Amino acid sequence: MKDPMLVIAEYWDRSPVPIEAIIRDVGLDLAFEDLDDSISGYIEKVGETYRIAVNLHHAVTRRRFTAAHELGHYVYHRDLLGNGVGDNRAYRTDGTNRPNPKIRPIHERQANAFAANILMPRHRLIGIENETTECLAERFGVSPAAMRIRLGR
Ligand SMILES: [Zn+2]
Repeated sequence: MKDPMLVIAEYWDRSPVPIEAIIRDVGLDLAFEDLDDSISGYIEKVGETYRIAVNLHHAVTRRRFTAAHELGHYVYHRDLLGNGVGDNRAYRTDGTNRPNPKIRPIHERQANAFAANILMPRHRLIGIENETTECLAERFGVSPAAMRIRLGR
């Protein structure tokens, strides 16, 4: 397993940030699965490593955010994950078949913040004041809503 932060630094200047390559380079398995629409994805322990699954039916921008969110659980919450945790559309465990009482709303917020930081790196959002939210969202492979929140627009 590689240090996730070193891997991220290697890929951070590409557009869009290649989250799938980052996850696989860290040493985690990543799969796109036929999941219920109410489920964004999950992370589960497999042997000594973890496996991330993302709902293949969701829009590509949501799939990228989900993948980054699950990587955030691995980076920040490995010691709490146990066998793993599921994420519904709101990135909470409610309604998933992978409940985990140790993963609290604050941890979900940390995973969301991690995802935003990875997909829309702060250092790449300097000097973009004259660009539209839609144009930036396209470049970074995120939804306009996610970019709007990130930029505080
Ligand atoms: Zn989560």
